[in-house]
Amino acid sequence: MKKSIKKSLLIFISLLLITFTACAKSKSTEKKEAAKQEETAATVNPEIEKLNRVLLSMSPRCKEAIPNGDPEEFLADLHKVLDSRSDFSSEDLSPFYLIDKTHTVSSSYEPKGLIHLENCSAYNVNKNNLSLRPEAYHALFELAKAAKASGVTLTISSTYRSYDYQKNLFDYWVRVDGLEEAERESARPGTSQHQLGMALDFAPVDDAFDKTPGGKWVYAHASDYGWSLSFPQGYEDVTGYRWECWHFRYIGKEACRFQKKWFGDVQQFMIEFIDAWEKAE
Ligand SMILES: [Zn+2]
Repeated sequence: MKKSIKKSLLIFISLLLITFTACAKSKSTEKKEAAKQEETAATVNPEIEKLNRVLLSMSPRCKEAIPNGDPEEFLADLHKVLDSRSDFSSEDLSPFYLIDKTHTVSSSYEPKGLIHLENCSAYNVNKNNLSLRPEAYHALFELAKAAKASGVTLTISSTYRSYDYQKNLFDYWVRVDGLEEAERESARPGTSQHQLGMALDFAPVDDAFDKTPGGKWVYAHASDYGWSLSFPQGYEDVTGYRWECWHFRYIGKEACRFQKKWFGDVQQFMIEFIDAWEKAE
């Protein structure tokens, strides 16, 4: 995609040069060039020009993660992801809501219709205060049912957390580990994916999860059920958090495919892109 994007960038820069030099030219030359300029602009897909602008605003590391490819194909995939939002309740925040250390949610936000989780035929829970947004609740059931069919029983350790719960949790980890270490694993209130009701932690909540049969199964199959690893290894400077092999966010199957195909399978890059796309004119 970069090559094609570079080509349309060149067109854009040429248009600017034409505009700048036009002042010094005669009226008739100016008219001819203006007509030519209009013709060139009409042949450029306006969404490709928008794509170039949005990509230019992304971090160098995000841009680096995006492979060469056809911008039209990228845009078609993007629209499939944006359309998939109709599978989610519009009364709650978008499934692609950008939340991280610098993008927050209000202290009063609580998703509607949270469903309580308890031990069931598909998975176990290790707390009795767990709940998820309906979309995530049903998608978890499908994921865990498939895991169970493969001989793996998953245990859920954490799901939706209110602002106040997150505040107490963060304060607890600061007391235990100190501020610097707490910031690497625990979110400040208002900045946690857990407050969206679409994220969960599998047990055990530590690096050991990755080595368990459950961890291996989830890592291989989660995206087939719309679940995405939020904080992958080697991206602490991007996500703000160290590797958390146990923490997944539900974004839907279409977005998981998009993330894998165009964003090096890094959720943060994709969600930052969608956020920038929606804010761009
Ligand atoms: Zn978590």
